[in-house]
Amino acid sequence: MVTKNQHYVPACILKHFANSKGQLYEALVKEGKVYRTNRSQAMSERFIYEHPILPQNILETYFHRIENYLSPALDRMASDIDSLGDSGSLDAIKKQVRKYLREFIIFYYRSGALFYEYGFDERERQERVVSLLQNLMRSEYIRSLAKTIERHYDFAVIKSEDRGFLLSDQYLSTAGLAVKNQFSNISNRNMGLRDVIILIPISCSYYAVYSHGKTPDYIVPEKHNVLTAEQVHEVNRTILNNSYRKCVGYNEAFLRESMESFVYRSPSGVRMVYDSGAVAGATLKKEVFFYPEERQVWDFLAGMKMLKFEGMGRNDLCACGSGKKFKKCCLYYYSRASSAILDIKNKIDVRSYAVHPTATVERGINEFFVPGTSH
Ligand SMILES: [Zn+2]
Repeated sequence: MVTKNQHYVPACILKHFANSKGQLYEALVKEGKVYRTNRSQAMSERFIYEHPILPQNILETYFHRIENYLSPALDRMASDIDSLGDSGSLDAIKKQVRKYLREFIIFYYRSGALFYEYGFDERERQERVVSLLQNLMRSEYIRSLAKTIERHYDFAVIKSEDRGFLLSDQYLSTAGLAVKNQFSNISNRNMGLRDVIILIPISCSYYAVYSHGKTPDYIVPEKHNVLTAEQVHEVNRTILNNSYRKCVGYNEAFLRESMESFVYRSPSGVRMVYDSGAVAGATLKKEVFFYPEERQVWDFLAGMKMLKFEGMGRNDLCACGSGKKFKKCCLYYYSRASSAILDIKNKIDVRSYAVHPTATVERGINEFFVPGTSH
């Protein structure tokens, strides 16, 4: 029997974003539409994991097996945090999240892969089902990525008292805490890099957080942080912008309010030809920054905005037209972006932005490399 309606975000996590009748709110992020649905319909599509050369239902069955043991573990995590209180130790929760990090990463690949990296046309989707499979089979890679996260990132738990957290169709949500560089094949928020925040959903009330770099002061490492509604909105902005097509939530008002912060960017591809003649390429993940200020720096770096400020003196009137002096206006963004450009000119290796010299850095799911020669 083939499961027709195949979930790209597991039902066992959707349950924690639904009410006791299984109802929740779903948003089409690009269209800005919000509607009520239930967890058996949400985040699913017909025959999404089927491929002519694969036995029917094989991926769906594989995911189901993982869900079977992850589901009770998620239930346990949610209720353990609930009974933790404000001052309880996070050790037990941390241990559980750590134990299932690999599964979380698998579900991340399973979901984000779908619309972002497969969604262009039917033929392409079928090819990418194979590449999804290859990624999931690289158990050594997934294991080492999980190890990098648990070793080099800080852990915290955040709570929304209004059940206000959203869930993106990426499953995990990530954001850059600072602009590092404009990379050719990865984004500033790839796991394994410095200055990255990783949000792991437990329920609409709780997220587990792994971070490196400057987190906002309401996310204190090793603490159970209770967030205000305003702070939950800030976190939701990252979750929403991790969504490619859909985002769900228990709390309709919270979902609607964050819709305004969605920035649509279509995926872009890059192709690199090395001196050796080898060719590599990848689809770029869109950049998401936790702080609006970093988004500004990014616009200076990635857009052509920088050119406008070249050669300006500190006391000149700012070229942006604000009427303020350059030093009191755009100089900060300009100099941050300039130092990233300098890194590019100096051909600073991506590895130097890794959280640790031995760290594994997340790869794009459809990254390809045509050997012929090595690089
Ligand atoms: Zn300015």
